[in-house]
Amino acid sequence: LVILGIETSCDDTAAAIVRSDGEILSQVVSSQADLLSRYGGVAPKMAEEAHVQVIDQVVQQALDNANLTEVDLSAVAVTIGPGLSLCLRVGVQKARRIAGKFNLPIIGIHHMEAHALVARLIDKELQFPFLALLISGGHNLLILAHDLGHYLQLGTTIDDAIGEAYDKTARWLGLDMGKGGGPALEELAREGDPDSVKFSIPMKQHKDCNFSYAGLKTQVRIAIESRNVNTYNPISAADCQDRKSRADIAASFQRVAVLHLEERCQRAIGWALSIAPSIKHLVVSGGVASNLYVRSRLDHVVTMNGLRLVCPPPNLCTDNGVMVAWTGIEHFRMGRFDPPPPADEADDFVFDLRPRWPLGEEYAEGRSEAR
Ligand code: ATP
Ligand code: FE
Repeated sequence: LVILGIETSCDDTAAAIVRSDGEILSQVVSSQADLLSRYGGVAPKMAEEAHVQVIDQVVQQALDNANLTEVDLSAVAVTIGPGLSLCLRVGVQKARRIAGKFNLPIIGIHHMEAHALVARLIDKELQFPFLALLISGGHNLLILAHDLGHYLQLGTTIDDAIGEAYDKTARWLGLDMGKGGGPALEELAREGDPDSVKFSIPMKQHKDCNFSYAGLKTQVRIAIESRNVNTYNPISAADCQDRKSRADIAASFQRVAVLHLEERCQRAIGWALSIAPSIKHLVVSGGVASNLYVRSRLDHVVTMNGLRLVCPPPNLCTDNGVMVAWTGIEHFRMGRFDPPPPADEADDFVFDLRPRWPLGEEYAEGRSEAR
C-alpha cells in the first residue's frame, strides 16, 4: 500500500506519502506561521486562501520527492475534521479531485486520531490499548485508545488548550512569532527562573482529568502588566532592557502549564490502568509535544508509573501529512474507506466535513470518580 495524506485543517498545508511498512516516502509542509504572526492569529478566510495558493504545489512536491505519480497510489487520505471548515474544504476538494481522476479510494481522517496514531508509525511495538495525551493549539485531550477507532475520552479542556496559552504568552512577551509562539517561548524560558513568579496550578481542587488554561493566561497577563514589561517592544530590540524579567515570566508560566499536565497524567494513568490493566505506554503528541521540557517532565511521570513514553519526533508532533497518510493506512487495512468519487462529482459542493468532531466517547464514570 502507498497512501497520499493531505492535511489542511488549520494553518499548515501538508502532504506526505507513506508506505504500509511505515516507510515515509516524502513529506512536505507549507507553513503560514509568518502570515499569521503578522495578523495575530488564524483568520479563516485568509488561511483558506493561503491553502488554495499552495495546495497543488505541496501535493505535486510530495509526489515528485517520492518519485511517484498518482497512478502509483493505493488511496488518498485526507483530514475531514475537526478544524476550520473553510480550510478543511481545500484539502478535501484536492483529495477528491485526485481520487476521482485516478479512481482511488478515499479515507476521511480525524485530525486528533492522526496525532495519536502517528506514534505507531515511529514505534512498531506500540500496541493497543494505550493512553494518549494530545496537546496542541486547539486541543488538550487524554484518551484511552482501546483499539483502532475505539477511544475513550478521559479528559479535555474546559476552555483553552495549552498551545493557545503558549501562543498568547509568547505574543504578550513580544517574542518573534515567525516560527510559532511555542518554540520561541520554550527558548526564552531556558534563561528564566521558573520559581520567580508564583502562578497557581489550574483546577487543583477538581479531582478529574480535565484541563483549563484560561485562568493561567489571565495570571500571565496580570504578571506582565504589574512588572511593566513593554510588550510592544519586541524582545529582539536593541533597547530591550527587561529580557530577564520576560524570561522569568516565560519560565514560570511553562513550569505551571506543564505541572498541570503532569498532575492530570498521573491521575489518568490510574484511571486507565483500572479500565485497561494491560496498557504499557503513554503517547504524547500534538504541536506542544515537540517541546523538550514538556517531554522530559512527562517522561519522568510515565517512568515513575512503570510505563513507557512514546513521543513522535518534533516534525511529526506538529501538523503534518505523514500522520494523515499513516492513519489512512491503519483504516484502509481494516477495510474502512470510501469508494472513489465519480470524476464529475469530485468538485461537488457538499461533501463530508466534520469541523466539530469529538474523538470517542466521554468517560462517564470519570465524573463520579472525581468526587
Ligand atoms: P489542533 O491539533 O488542536 O487542531 P493545530 O493543528 O493548530 O491544533 P498543532 O500543529 O498540532 O496545532 O500544534 C500547534 C501548537 O503547538 C501551537 O499552539 C504551537 O505554539 C505549539 N507548539 C509548537 N511547538 C511548540 C514548542 N516547542 N513548545 C510549546 N508549544 C509548541
Ligand atoms: Fe494539530
